[in-house]
Amino acid sequence: MADMRLIVVGAAGRMGKTLIRTIAGMDGVTVAGAVERSGSPEIGRDAGVLAGLEPLGVTVTDDPLPLFAAAEGVLDFTGPAATLEFAELAAQARIVHVIGTTGLSDADNDRIRAAARHAVVVKSGNMSLGVNLLALLVRQAARALDADFDIEVVEMHHRMKVDAPSGTALMLGEAAARGRGIDLGDHAVRSRDGHTGARRRGDIGFATLRGGTVIGEHAVVLAGEFERVELVHKAEDRSIFARGAVKAALWGRGRKPGLYSMADVLGLSDD
Ligand code: NAD
Repeated sequence: MADMRLIVVGAAGRMGKTLIRTIAGMDGVTVAGAVERSGSPEIGRDAGVLAGLEPLGVTVTDDPLPLFAAAEGVLDFTGPAATLEFAELAAQARIVHVIGTTGLSDADNDRIRAAARHAVVVKSGNMSLGVNLLALLVRQAARALDADFDIEVVEMHHRMKVDAPSGTALMLGEAAARGRGIDLGDHAVRSRDGHTGARRRGDIGFATLRGGTVIGEHAVVLAGEFERVELVHKAEDRSIFARGAVKAALWGRGRKPGLYSMADVLGLSDD
């Protein structure tokens, strides 16, 4: 089969550059386009050079339309507003949309669900194999240990990250809530400050650390009486997310439209 033609949007970002390097180094996929926001100083540059490689002959542009018409997939690690625009374009072009962007609201997710009626969308707060396995383990642990065990999700990321708690932390909280058979929205405590009162039984707490260049560290703590279980993941390089995103695009090729998760791609859905 011919190489899958992929567009990288947010091409000059931390993940965008990693995606370009990853696609260029993989068989079966090719960089078919690179998009940045209007006004970006990187418009007009070669995408390969931008990512620290030899020239790829792909120029960074702020006009996604013609690219979407000629490609098979788009890898999107940008921001919520941009991702909603790309979801509409991907639905119109009926190409695979892999969404890594985090910080999406419920209303944003509704619009993505609507776009997924027309195109294959794979969306995950974390595209790495390790974190998706961790989510499965968290779900099992939360199911096995009752609400005598308090669940807290602790995360740390680099100083430039703009949303909190991280998409991965929320994904792990969701996994814990599913294991317990409860709704995360009713039990999430996303921050604590001042006189908070005692911890409510069954709540799922989040704690956020920001600093330095940390790519992403997550721990799910299940704290019971006199014992504690901790499930931990440490990302050491952004390429783990990029490889997962490419894998998701290849998996989505030729599939019927719908909203899928990375657990579907990796065969880790246990229900
Ligand atoms: P970043 O700020 O380095 O990159 C985002 C890029 O998107 C920027 O270059 C920005 O100019 C570009 N952009 C914004 N609007 C655009 C538009 N309309 N058109 C084209 N480009 C546009 O951020 P980052 O660290 O690369 O992270 C990006 C997103 O991916 C964040 O939401 C982050 O949380 C998420 N992320 C997800 C995973 C995962 O596995 N799901 C992993 C890492 C990061």
